[in-house]
Amino acid sequence: MAATFVDVASGSAVRIVAREDSRELARKLYPHVESKSSQQMLAYRELPDTQLFDEQQVRVETDPAEFPGYKSDRILCPRCGEGVNFGRFVEVDGERLCLSCARPELRYWRPANLEP
Ligand SMILES: [Zn+2]
Repeated sequence: MAATFVDVASGSAVRIVAREDSRELARKLYPHVESKSSQQMLAYRELPDTQLFDEQQVRVETDPAEFPGYKSDRILCPRCGEGVNFGRFVEVDGERLCLSCARPELRYWRPANLEP
């Protein structure tokens, strides 16, 4: 498991990864404790961060569309007539189609009236 924390102004970020060997460390520290979760709770309280996590300085490019309040052009899909925001369209033969019309095989839904 990992999490990345980004300074969006500069793009600099730190990526924190939970070390896979921390459970083994917990087992070695508290072999007399029967429950694995209790072993881990006890060990995680005292182990230094460096034994629990790996830390890496990284850079993250953020897209303006990822931020709350982002405004984008809105187009109408010429095939289905639905509005399309955030540039979520695909150009096919000069037409800007919503993703659902451009790639119907990737839809997560299908019309209920087509069910057997
Ligand atoms: Zn469409």
